[in-house]
Amino acid sequence: MKIPAKMRTFCPQCNTHTVQEVKIEKAKQRGGGMNQGSRRSARWTSRIGNHGRYSRRPIAARNMTSKTTKKVDLRITCSQCGKKWIRSRPRARRTEIKRA
Ligand SMILES: [Zn+2]
Repeated sequence: MKIPAKMRTFCPQCNTHTVQEVKIEKAKQRGGGMNQGSRRSARWTSRIGNHGRYSRRPIAARNMTSKTTKKVDLRITCSQCGKKWIRSRPRARRTEIKRA
């Protein structure tokens, strides 16, 4: 899927159509990685034997194969007021911003 780098769309702040810059937001990493759940999981899996509920595959990994596309987080920035908006989250195998 190709998306234009600049598009003229409605800005709710300016209340008119303005030229807006399009960017793909990168996924942010949450926390330091060791939260309560992962600490508990590490404690269980460090032992010998069955790991109980931690033996099962997590839900996120079980659902991984169901979809072949990813949702893209598109953000548009108004060139007049500089405010950022979420444009849409289209599904596509590959997304690239087309520079004219
Ligand atoms: Zn604006």
